[in-house]
Formats: sequence, C-alpha cells, structure tokens
Amino acid sequence: MRIVLLGAPGSGKGTQAQRLVARFGVPQISTGDLLRSAVARGTELGRRAKAAMDSGQLVADEIVIGIIRERLGQGDAQDGYVLDGFPRNQAQARALATMLAAIGQPLDAVVLFEVDYAEIARRISGRRSCPNCGTIYNVHDASTLGITHCTSCDAGPLLTQRPDDNEQTVARRLAVYDEQTRPLIEHYRAQGLLRTIDAQGDVEEVTDRLLAVLPPA
Ligand code: ADP
Ligand code: ZN
Repeated sequence: MRIVLLGAPGSGKGTQAQRLVARFGVPQISTGDLLRSAVARGTELGRRAKAAMDSGQLVADEIVIGIIRERLGQGDAQDGYVLDGFPRNQAQARALATMLAAIGQPLDAVVLFEVDYAEIARRISGRRSCPNCGTIYNVHDASTLGITHCTSCDAGPLLTQRPDDNEQTVARRLAVYDEQTRPLIEHYRAQGLLRTIDAQGDVEEVTDRLLAVLPPA
C-alpha cells in the first residue's frame, strides 16, 4: 500500500497515519516529523530547515525531496508506506512521480482530509504530543480531555506543544496550504488517484471512513 494523505495542517493526517501503521505494518513517512527530528538533533539539515518551520513557510524543495528520496530507499518502505505531509507543492509532486516511476511503484491512492476552518483551529490549539514516542493527543477531545502526560509510555512523560502551533504561525501555514498545496487536489484528481473523506468527527469515525476508501491491502 503506497498512499499519500493530503489535507490542511491540523486535518488529522498524522493521527490517522499512526493508525494505518498499527493496522497494516507499513511505515508512516512524515516530512514534518523527519524535519523536527533533524532540528532536535542539531544536524546541518535541521539548521537549514528550522527558520522556515518556525515561521510556517515550506522548507526548501531540494531539502525535503532529498529527505524523501533517502527515506523511500530504506528497507521498511519497500512494501509500502503512508506519506504524511509530502508532497506539499507541484514541484514535490513531480519529483515524487519521477522517483516512483523509476522504480515502477506508482501510488495506489491519495486521500484528501476535509475539515472546516473552526475545527482546524480547535485541533491545532489542543494538539500535544509525547516527546518520547510521538503519540498525538488532543486536550479538547472527550477521551483525552485535559490530558497532560503520555499514557503509552511507562514513564508517562509530560506532553509538549509544537512551537509552530501558535496562532500566528498557524495562520501562515494555512495560507501556504491554500496557495501551494491545495492545487495538488486537482492534480491527483486528474490522475484518478484522489479519494476524499470527511475528516470531522471523532478519530474512530474518521479511521472507518479512511479504511473504506483505501484500495484492498
Ligand atoms: P502540519 O501538517 O500540521 O503543518 P507538519 O508536521 O506536516 O505539520 O509540518 C510542519 C512544518 O514542517 C511545515 O510548516 C513546514 O515548514 C515543514 N514541512 C513539512 N513537510 C514539508 C514539505 N513536504 N515541504 C516543505 N516543508 C515541509
Ligand atoms: Zn509516549
């Protein structure tokens, strides 16, 4: 299964990707996570990416495409993957198509997550994640209301908020999505790959809708 999750920041791609990983055993490949890890490790690449991320702009295509090329070449990606946060503009989509054509492994589907603006604001402001295992929580959701510590890790580390989940940066990320990423919807629709789901409602409901549009595994 080779799929792309497409949707605005806060539309729930990362949360649902984690569920597909648990269900199908394919890796989640998130450029946001890979970039945050490079920033945390203080690598040269992380240093170059940090300013763009902090201001809500896209990191340079050459950096992100390089990261993806390397990641797709790793052993665990040979039987499929869930791409989350890539591609994010036309140049990245073209680069991905070229890479996949070269190895004869086309995408199976691109799933668009549809969520309204108010819900995006609610999700991003409530988003917290575990610094140890990366599990995403939301302090506004009924099942995790007011949660402060990870329940998946033994030590129960304190959950943290992403530095780019502040109001100003979120506004910029949404504008970038509208200008640069939204055009990919038509791009993939024209190729017959696009499946659209209503990504509002609780996490379980969205997972069910997602599974319903995926090609048979
Ligand atoms: P979200 O989808 O909530 O915006 P991500 O974790 O996917 O969060 O991305 C966080 C930031 O990382 C983006 O705002 C951007 O700066 C950078 N980034 C992630 N993926 C890409 C990409 N494919 N191209 C360029 N920049 C990216
Ligand atoms: Zn954890």
